[in-house]
Amino acid sequence: KKVTKGKPKWLRVKLPTGEKYRNLRNLVDKYNLHTICTSGSCPNMGECWGEGTATFMILGNVCTRSCGFCGVKTGRPEDVEWDEPEKVARSIKLMGIKHAVVTSVDRDDLKDMGSIIWAETVKAIRRMNPETTLETLIPDFQGNTRNIDRVIEVAPEVVSHNMETVRRLTREVRIQAKYDRSLEVLRYLKANGIRRTKSGIMLGLGEQEDEVIQVLKDLRSVDVDVVTIGQYLQPSKQHLPVQTFVTPDQFKKYEEIGKDLGFRHVESSALVRSSYKAQKHIN
Ligand code: SF4
Ligand code: SF4
Repeated sequence: KKVTKGKPKWLRVKLPTGEKYRNLRNLVDKYNLHTICTSGSCPNMGECWGEGTATFMILGNVCTRSCGFCGVKTGRPEDVEWDEPEKVARSIKLMGIKHAVVTSVDRDDLKDMGSIIWAETVKAIRRMNPETTLETLIPDFQGNTRNIDRVIEVAPEVVSHNMETVRRLTREVRIQAKYDRSLEVLRYLKANGIRRTKSGIMLGLGEQEDEVIQVLKDLRSVDVDVVTIGQYLQPSKQHLPVQTFVTPDQFKKYEEIGKDLGFRHVESSALVRSSYKAQKHIN
């Protein structure tokens, strides 16, 4: 049998089409709006934008951390732009976004770790887009509850924080993070009034099935409502290599296990990204 190199067929995607997608694409190009969807060339753009969902990144595009899987640049970030919250809120209005996911680079260089801009961004979005619902995909803020509280106070409909991988591989995959600290952030959010909490992991980094199931159990132990499970893809040769392409059947298996464990929503398939189908996770 001929061995074909490259990605398996279930990872090939159709190019996005549709009028709604084209209109949004034009707006983004014209006003130079910054979405993760376009900068990461996400395969789900057609689907998400068609449903009025998009993901925005705040606090610049240079990160103080250097996770082995992530395509964002590492280095000394630029100064904080205090008008960024307004800019993001305006982009959301211009694009007619019904459900916005906001995420950020990690700003370990700042005293507040970016939490003030986080809160101001949510407030600005609410002011300008009272109908738009929000998911904030937050960093761990080094577990500092004062910073986490700033996000809790502005009450996004969903707050997510990604575990990204299993316990054993955490050091290799996201060197400046800690498995238990991330779990504690998720526990704290739920215990302090966030109605829907959410987390995500990537597969294909060398994890075993029992380790994946353990992450799911750990997330349920801190009352997380939603989990996303997708295939890791290497952003460049400098990043961690893909160890395995997880099969559609295996993704399905994790979905069933997750449902049995009591998650409200489990998104599990190769092309799932943490903001995929995000709108439905409010409920
Ligand atoms: Fe954008 Fe996330 Fe949807 Fe990808 S999955 S298109 S990044 S909202
Ligand atoms: Fe990428 Fe987030 Fe890690 Fe920074 S902290 S390198 S943005 S995954």
